[in-house]
Amino acid sequence: PGGGGSGGQVSGAEVIAQALKTQNVKYMFGVVGIPVTDIALAAQELGIRFIGMRNEQAACYAASAVGYLTGRPGVCLVVSGPGLIHALGGMANANMNCWPLIVIGGSSERNQETMGAFQEFPQVEACRLYSKFSARPTSIEHIPVVIEKAVRSSIYGRPGACYIDVPADFVTLQGNVNSIKYKECCLPPPVSMADTPAVCMAASVIRNAKQPLLIVGKGAAYSHAEDSIKKLVEQCNLPFLPTPMGKGVVPDDHPNCVSAARSRALQFADVIVLFGARLNWILHFGLPPRYQADVKFIQIDICAEELGNNVRPSVTLLGDINAVSKQLLEQFDKTPWQFPTDSRWWETLREKMKSNEAVSKELASKKSLPMNYYTVFYHVQEQLPRDCFIVSEGANTMDIGRTVLQNYLPRHRLDAGTFGTMGVGLGFAIAAAVVARDRSPGKRVICVEGDSAFGFSGMEVETICRYNLPIILLVVNNNGIYQGLDADTWEKTLNFQEAVTAVPPMCLLPNSHYEQVMTAFGGKGYFVKTPEELQNSLRQTLEDTSKPCLINIMIEPQSTRKAQDFHWLTRSNM
Ligand code: ADP
Ligand code: MG
Repeated sequence: PGGGGSGGQVSGAEVIAQALKTQNVKYMFGVVGIPVTDIALAAQELGIRFIGMRNEQAACYAASAVGYLTGRPGVCLVVSGPGLIHALGGMANANMNCWPLIVIGGSSERNQETMGAFQEFPQVEACRLYSKFSARPTSIEHIPVVIEKAVRSSIYGRPGACYIDVPADFVTLQGNVNSIKYKECCLPPPVSMADTPAVCMAASVIRNAKQPLLIVGKGAAYSHAEDSIKKLVEQCNLPFLPTPMGKGVVPDDHPNCVSAARSRALQFADVIVLFGARLNWILHFGLPPRYQADVKFIQIDICAEELGNNVRPSVTLLGDINAVSKQLLEQFDKTPWQFPTDSRWWETLREKMKSNEAVSKELASKKSLPMNYYTVFYHVQEQLPRDCFIVSEGANTMDIGRTVLQNYLPRHRLDAGTFGTMGVGLGFAIAAAVVARDRSPGKRVICVEGDSAFGFSGMEVETICRYNLPIILLVVNNNGIYQGLDADTWEKTLNFQEAVTAVPPMCLLPNSHYEQVMTAFGGKGYFVKTPEELQNSLRQTLEDTSKPCLINIMIEPQSTRKAQDFHWLTRSNM
């Protein structure tokens, strides 16, 4: 295969694989079946990594995470109809997160269309709402053109998902090698810079701020702006706040990181610079009461349509974050300026951080059993390798975990994201592990899951074991969604009534042994109830790198977050 000598024949599947390789696509995730199996085989033959998953949704999450981690889209390969429909969740999630992704879906044979063909579905149309580009090549010769355009569209401008439809008859159709023209690998995305007067104005607004704040979003992580933003933070002594996936662009333990005073910082800042973070629900729309009504926003984004959403910004800087951050740095190189350490603002923030940290520490030090979230995460944090990836999802598990578990490197945290998607964890972890194995062997992936979140894609544990990926799954188990019941209360509830009528909707089966899902496939499993058991199992698994592992951590089923200043959005602290 691969289109041998001149005048030879080449199949549609081989053309797809070669076109992807020419566009420098390195990873493909999917579930094979009619009609796409040959595509996976052809891709593997050319050295594209194919990772077979157990559900298209998880495969699509994995492919999208590759895009975020490497800046080059991963491919999700799915079968027609239901296969493609399962992948829509992953496409939507990628598009919401502004992550590049290519989905390739097999579809029914062209000459059976409208006849009720096997798994027939209007796939190109269906994907339009979930992507920036959705198309079907018109012939085998056209495949390389569409693939180049999909790859380019996925990474140019605001990154996002693209769909390519491949009718079943294309997969096996033979074309003449000489008639196929592969398009050269598309150029890297052009780097755009902000308008110079706007940059000067932004610098002047920052200089005049009394209570400045930088917010570092996942757009900054995606654009590899870590060096320039860190420089800006240090050179100007500015407080910064990472968003959930902006964590690690500047390390969480940097003295200027004010995560522990998040609400306070947002509420009283008078100038806020947004580095690739949207003013959506995660940032409380940029509106009072979470912000001052007259706060001046400086928005940096690659997408012009984003500028001005929900607030009227003081300055808009349209461009690549890394490039624009450098432009800002130039201003402060020309006329150096530092926000004073002894300012009232820094004092306020430091005080608040101290008192918030004290409350968390106090909760963490509680000796009572079952453990609470804070106790669990403090013990995990103590042992986490500095360079590990942290994947997380769940409600309290993710929200509290984020405040305790530290990130020190950019693009090393993956979670439910802009769309608040549950079920992303194992797919993301698999993607991070596969990429890490190629680029930085030895790195571990710690996947912190609520018990409910784990259930969305639990069978991907088999995938993890099949590829023997360096993943440690922590299932923080409270027997339910938000909150569950302890085993005694559960028994009592069921004594009175039949399960179907009596089980509260939030409850999952108490004391479920999720670790046995891991041992079923040859990985290591631990069921832990005490801090000592947690510490020991984590130490053992960090030392023994030979196998994936799942630690099922039983916590107080009614455990919650510490009291918050604001309650009016359930997940308001994201
Ligand atoms: P967070 O969830 O961290 O707040 P968002 O996903 O809301 O982040 O925002 C990320 C923003 O970053 C998006 O508006 C996107 O358009 C923007 N973005 C992505 N890549 C770049 C880039 N290279 N340069 C500038 N902005 C970017
Ligand atoms: Mg739970």
